[in-house]
Amino acid sequence: MNAAATPEPAAVEIVALTKRYAPGTPAAVDRIDLRIASGSYCCLLGPSGCGKSTTLRMIAGHESVSSGDILLDNRNITNLPAAARGTAMMFQSFALFPHLSATDNVAFSLKMKGVGKAERHKRANDLLERVAMGHLAARKPGELSGGQQQRVALARALITEPRVLLLDEPLSALDPFLRIQMRAELRRWQKELGLTFIHVTHSQEEAMALADTMVVMNHGVIEQVGSPHAVYNHPASEFVARFMGGHNVFDTPAGPIAVRNDRMRIAAAAQAATGGALAATVTDVEYQGTYVLLGLALDGVAAAGRQNVSVLLSEAAFLARPYAHGEAVHLSWAEADARVLGPGAKPSSERAPAPAGAEAARQDDTAVLAVPF
Ligand code: ADP
Ligand code: MG
Repeated sequence: MNAAATPEPAAVEIVALTKRYAPGTPAAVDRIDLRIASGSYCCLLGPSGCGKSTTLRMIAGHESVSSGDILLDNRNITNLPAAARGTAMMFQSFALFPHLSATDNVAFSLKMKGVGKAERHKRANDLLERVAMGHLAARKPGELSGGQQQRVALARALITEPRVLLLDEPLSALDPFLRIQMRAELRRWQKELGLTFIHVTHSQEEAMALADTMVVMNHGVIEQVGSPHAVYNHPASEFVARFMGGHNVFDTPAGPIAVRNDRMRIAAAAQAATGGALAATVTDVEYQGTYVLLGLALDGVAAAGRQNVSVLLSEAAFLARPYAHGEAVHLSWAEADARVLGPGAKPSSERAPAPAGAEAARQDDTAVLAVPF
């Protein structure tokens, strides 16, 4: 096999995985179950502190596991050292050595393993060719653009021939423009290399742009797993609807529902007092180019956090019928656009006691709320 050839990608399976940093503290990762398809781009998504990096570090072998198992293609790697797992990590802002050339950065782990200079340089340069960086192999990171540095970081991670590439907020130190360029490039490399990528991010926009499968986490548990389309169109819980953005949450007799803000119907108060419509007042008008985003306050609703609603209108719709700050309106939606929200996942300490039998317990306790696309 050529040094630059990519090994077969692996499927990753996580079973009841738990991390508790100190006894008596809440689990940072709380009995999560997850299966990541071979050759897919998986994003772990959630707010700061929800357990994304802890999960990734346990998969990498950089953090010990309190309980549970991690399998790579049905091989239990839970207790293997990091270097023996078939995983590699790409860190935030690439963490390249500034004093080393691209070749020496890529070859670094081979040097640590005692591979001779000629051999490790050949393998490093083959990989740099593979990521279209062969002509810049002698440069140091400071002499490369952000995009070129990312390719060096990718080559450095690939030199160990991993079957799963782990990325922890790899784009978060970049400016917004470069971040969008770089994520397109990551996606392209993942498809071209055919590897399994697990990418941690707190940005729902980044996860939606990249992922085949999104895993939405909160407080150490998984709230929802699905394609970006499935998660956005069928949020499983109020947390997911709010975290993904672009949704309004309403209380109804049947429980809370979510309605996408581009599916809201808005009409002048005078002409639309139909049954079921909500009276509201326009509080913000924000021009966004293709769209105009209206902020509204529901009239007579006191419950904290539930009175603010948004409506996204196309620019054409807004120009045809502009709404002004302070205007009284009625809001409604089609029944088909209302998504009934479940209660959301609970940490294991708040879940009902598991029935006897490990298999039954696992099925009963699963935190994954899969939603069909
Ligand atoms: P995320 O990556 O989603 O922001 P982390 O996995 O880093 O979240 O953290 C999850 C929780 O575990 C947080 O409450 C954090 O404070 C805690 N935590 C993370 N690393 C450590 C550590 N080394 N020691 C103790 N607590 C930690
Ligand atoms: Mg983190």
